[in-house]
Amino acid sequence: MKKIAILGAAESGTGAAILAKKEGYDVFVSDMSPIKERYKKMLDERQIVWEEGHHTEARILDAEEIVKSPGIPDEAPIVKKAIEKGIRIISEIEFAGRYTNSKMICITGSNGKTTTTSLIYHIFKTAGYDAGLAGNIGNSLALQVAEEPHEYYIIELSSFQLDNMYDFRADIAILLNITPDHLDRYGNCMQNYVDAKMRITQNQTSEDAFIYWADDPIIKRELEKYDIKAVQCPFSEVKKKGVIGYMEEGQYKIEYPTPFNMEQEELSLTGRHNIYNSLAAGIASNISGIKKDVIRQSLSDFPGVEHRLERVCKVDGVEYINDSKATNVDACWYALESMKTPTILIIGGKDKGNDYEPIRELVKKKCAGLVFLGADNTKLHDFFDSLGIPVRDTHSMKDCVAACRELAKPGDTVLLSPCCASFDLFKNMEDRGEQFKTLVRELRKEKDE
Ligand code: ADP
Repeated sequence: MKKIAILGAAESGTGAAILAKKEGYDVFVSDMSPIKERYKKMLDERQIVWEEGHHTEARILDAEEIVKSPGIPDEAPIVKKAIEKGIRIISEIEFAGRYTNSKMICITGSNGKTTTTSLIYHIFKTAGYDAGLAGNIGNSLALQVAEEPHEYYIIELSSFQLDNMYDFRADIAILLNITPDHLDRYGNCMQNYVDAKMRITQNQTSEDAFIYWADDPIIKRELEKYDIKAVQCPFSEVKKKGVIGYMEEGQYKIEYPTPFNMEQEELSLTGRHNIYNSLAAGIASNISGIKKDVIRQSLSDFPGVEHRLERVCKVDGVEYINDSKATNVDACWYALESMKTPTILIIGGKDKGNDYEPIRELVKKKCAGLVFLGADNTKLHDFFDSLGIPVRDTHSMKDCVAACRELAKPGDTVLLSPCCASFDLFKNMEDRGEQFKTLVRELRKEKDE
């Protein structure tokens, strides 16, 4: 019996273990941290052997193959030993891909993955397609392949998942953009991160499609190095040679394979970045044969994704928007760019080595106030104080919302789009967004009473 070890027993690891067991492997699951009850139960129910709190090296290194959770870095001692021993290390998506012939629609990029993946899923479901949502969102691909197979999978892929993918082939690959992120995991070398993202095209054939943002300077440069076999489907904000999706005179247009257009105003997602996301999703759906009226309807009634430019409510004529997921400077740039009224920007948190220069001009142009929200706001003061915009220094969401209320005038927008990770003051970006929404809604309630 072929031996396989699974490192990490959360969503992807548990799914991989279940699929491996079903396919007749001798499976061993090991997690350095405590395993959640839910996953223990799933493993126990299928008689899969697991351990938590440590790694039994002898057992792991005895495996012929290892499925590694994307959260575990290559520098982890057990991974290093496995590499030294020449054991093949793969991702859960790679493993699951071996056991299905379903159509794979894979989405990657530094920003916009979850939004685009969710939008495509929404269109496919509206069209009545049998589709599963996988990757960073939804149930793991492996679990679905094992126990709840679908005809199509819409898969959000992070660079960490792509790192350990070799033979997997995407029928439709989408590359939204490449900007610096997670460089700490790539030896502070941008090219390593870029190479990981470009793996989305590997193994594609002339039967497949590669959808990408034509104006991304890094993607453009990289494409010169690759011999892309897939049909190339670039999109851009404006019509230009070679692109098959674009905006023209207030119309959203796709040229290939079925000509399609709709009013830009009808798109439910707003902001320039969401034009890109909507184009990528529309092209993927069009290629998959979804009817025009379904694409049109779905692009206009998509409810959006929580914590991504999510409208909370209006209090005293001030609009509050939760974009807690903007954990890098590029994401904040797009959020700010889409603001139509003077904005009070909430910024700060755990800085991942940010350079704020790219948003300096937009902050000057759009912001009527800045509220810093972090355990240590020194770097923000150093960069932004000289711009002459009113600044408030806060270290909790309560103080932050109070400061926003004090700064904002009727007609303004308060935007939480922090450029930073949340771990200094919050459990995660969801916790940050939830706390923001709760406090803003309390303001609203006070008003109503
Ligand atoms: P990801 O899953 O890649 O992190 P999300 O869809 O969750 O992306 O969006 C993360 C943040 O990035 C959001 O706050 C949003 O403002 C911004 N964003 C979304 N789409 C894009 C895009 N195409 N380009 C740049 N920024 C984007």
